[in-house]
Amino acid sequence: MRKIALLTSGGDAPGMNACIRAIVLTSLRYGLEVYGYRHGFNGLLEQEYLNLRAKNVANIIQRGGTILNSARCLTFKSDDAAKVAAKNLDILGIEALLVIGGDGSFRGAKHLANHWSGQVIGLPGTIDNDVDGTDATIGYYTAIETALDSIDKVRDTADAFERIFLIEVMGRHAGFIGLNAAIASAADHIMLPEISRSCDDELENILAHIEAVKKRRGNTSYIVVVTENLWPDGVTSLAQILTEKTQIECRPVILGYVQRGGSPVSQDRVLATKLGAFAVEAALEGKTGVMVGEINQEIVCTELENSWLQKKPLDPYLVKIQQDLFDILKRP
Ligand code: ATP
Repeated sequence: MRKIALLTSGGDAPGMNACIRAIVLTSLRYGLEVYGYRHGFNGLLEQEYLNLRAKNVANIIQRGGTILNSARCLTFKSDDAAKVAAKNLDILGIEALLVIGGDGSFRGAKHLANHWSGQVIGLPGTIDNDVDGTDATIGYYTAIETALDSIDKVRDTADAFERIFLIEVMGRHAGFIGLNAAIASAADHIMLPEISRSCDDELENILAHIEAVKKRRGNTSYIVVVTENLWPDGVTSLAQILTEKTQIECRPVILGYVQRGGSPVSQDRVLATKLGAFAVEAALEGKTGVMVGEINQEIVCTELENSWLQKKPLDPYLVKIQQDLFDILKRP
């Protein structure tokens, strides 16, 4: 193999730059030329790429975002687009393409593999951690820290004003960030897709809990962590309902994009470096159609389809603890 390429796709995640650095330096170590396509799959279609050298990846390990830029590319779903990408990769003489992104990006990688004879390898880079075949995705640990820091700060106002706060965290349709940030911040209540009830049940449950906690503590400060896409009309509408029903002021806080940014924590940098180096070595061994991930401290390859076919479960013990602590708070 002489030439290898990479791109970052979907939502950016802290640690993507650390991963790019590891891929570039490992490729150079093995004497490969390495190319970075810009703006996700758009770069393949537009032939927008850079020849990456060691100097391009100096001083980036600590930076959030991605030096290659990321993007959504809806047109890439068509067969024609995949064929154009395959042709462009062949023109440049690329033999293997590494795709850093989430499950959508891996669908894109698989789609390309159906039309291209080169090797395709995925690396899990998304804050949501909703990719099977790895314990954690690159960016996930940093997103928890960012959410946690914000929740701690909101709690100061919740305590000072004796208010209820609903804090919406990211996760697409998965509760990994929500569960971990809620446990670590000692949130009073949590609403996750994996343990969600009907809206009526959820409302009844939360109102009873607020009442019990108010009696127990003698104040009305209360924090709920809610994952995005969970309450049908959004957390703002839920906050209005809770204000009316409890007569306690309830405010929504949507953390939003701050969770995707920032300097990666050490766990994300180390994971990104490990997976980046391993992906290059896997490409040199001829692997294709797989995602590299880490399970129980071992680096493993998973068929790309298996990264999205099953919903990755939350840690059941963590869910149980959260539920137990919630129940204890209700006791008089
Ligand atoms: P995140 O969830 O963190 O935002 P992601 O990789 O899941 O990351 P998506 O927006 O779902 O983000 O997908 C990224 C890109 O992957 C899409 O914009 C598109 O270019 C490509 N893609 C997604 N699904 C497909 C598909 N079925 N076929 C071809 N390409 C796809």
